[in-house]
Amino acid sequence: MIISMKLHANKAEIEEVCERVRELGYKIHAIEGEERCVIGVVGVGDVTNCLESLEAMPQVEKAVRISAPYKFVSREFRETKTVIRIDTPRGPLEIGGDEFVMMAGPCSVESEKQILDTAEAVAKGGARVLRGGAYKPRTSPYDFQGMEEEGLKLLAKARELTGLAIITEVMSDRDVELVGDYADILQIGARNMQNFALLKTLGKSKRPILLKRGLSSTIKELLMSAEYIVAHGNPNVMLCERGIRTFETVTRNTCDIVAIPVLHEMTHLPVILDPSHATGKRSLVPALTRAGVAIGADGVILEVHPCPNKAVSDGAQSLDIAQYNAMMKDLQPYLQLWKASRVENAVMA
Ligand code: PEP
Ligand code: MN
Repeated sequence: MIISMKLHANKAEIEEVCERVRELGYKIHAIEGEERCVIGVVGVGDVTNCLESLEAMPQVEKAVRISAPYKFVSREFRETKTVIRIDTPRGPLEIGGDEFVMMAGPCSVESEKQILDTAEAVAKGGARVLRGGAYKPRTSPYDFQGMEEEGLKLLAKARELTGLAIITEVMSDRDVELVGDYADILQIGARNMQNFALLKTLGKSKRPILLKRGLSSTIKELLMSAEYIVAHGNPNVMLCERGIRTFETVTRNTCDIVAIPVLHEMTHLPVILDPSHATGKRSLVPALTRAGVAIGADGVILEVHPCPNKAVSDGAQSLDIAQYNAMMKDLQPYLQLWKASRVENAVMA
């Protein structure tokens, strides 16, 4: 059950509602929102009586039953889409709004020259966000593990020089604060989608989160992980389809492309597609990016490297700069259709 308080309800009024909830035998699970407080309530009992009793309180705007287990992130909870706002040196950026957001950059930050050259090129080609891993989750402990804080400093330099926002992965709850000092968006990798200690700590972060779908995770599990972050206090979560593991071996993963409209139906959170990890092959990235635009993703995150053959990680799925530019050029008519359909949807709503 979710209780939406009237705008600017004060602390005493909120506490009075919480007290009433406890009297009725339910538990307060989370309280979110600065301007408008929303209280999450869990428990079993006579729900209809509870809803009526709470709605009779003058400080309560609405009390509704949410049947989905992922309450705060469900469409039942909020019909309008969440728009995540980020201040970049080039002005405000909205994710989930009227702009298709291109996030691009190397799999790993490798050197100053590599990240600055890539940043400049992807910015010119229309990206608003620079990706680059400084902490890398690698299957083998003998592979490159990332430049860590030195890599974060290089990303910050790229941000300053190009005006791009920065997205980079955080792998441990111990690093959330440090990575948040440098990055605009914290990426949670597929392998950490169910790292619940990390998810809880992200709830305390002020930074928006990009949560990647786990290798073998269902859409519902992805939503439950997002719920962890939101229930712990951070509403700015976007979801990322990056392919799942199936019996198919020709592609690195199997892209569950329909997950994008499915997620739009189930949640109000923005949905991003990662065509690089979904395919593992650079030749397939432009086609899947087009599919992502056509099916209504809010943006894509993809890998670009100035010299993919020399990349320390994921070279085979990275576009070089010329391929990235060609893809961006070919994408323009699709992006125009995307924009037109967003405007149309907004008018209809
Ligand atoms: C990455 O973005 O480089 C990455 C490791 O992605 P994923 O967690 O989706 O495998
Ligand atoms: Mn990668």
